[in-house]
Amino acid sequence: MTLHANAGSADPSATTPARIHADRAAGLLEIEWQDGHRTTYAALELRWLCPCAYCRGEAGLPGWLDTAPTLTADQTRLVDVHLVGSYAIAPSWGDGHHSGFYPFSLLRDRCGCATCTASREVRS
Ligand SMILES: [Zn+2]
Ligand SMILES: [Zn+2]
Repeated sequence: MTLHANAGSADPSATTPARIHADRAAGLLEIEWQDGHRTTYAALELRWLCPCAYCRGEAGLPGWLDTAPTLTADQTRLVDVHLVGSYAIAPSWGDGHHSGFYPFSLLRDRCGCATCTASREVRS
């Protein structure tokens, strides 16, 4: 499945996907950004990043992921990915979880490629 996200938008190209591809068989999410950069997330990495209130907690309370749960195969099985407006994607997981809206800026910020990892180390 391939989603084509707002190509031609005036948003900064670094946080605007040109193409989003969910490879469900391989359990990978690939994002090609308008500046030409590519980001690949394994489903497991993506599941751990879930920004929803249930996983992350809210109002100072810890979320489910903060309890360091052992994720089941269903919980890390990428079933579907939907675009949310022009700013985020919402993956659906094998356990039915689909409330996490991942903003493009988060997905770009957490890019795990060698280049981005190196530049994060310089910053911190
Ligand atoms: Zn969540
Ligand atoms: Zn990167």
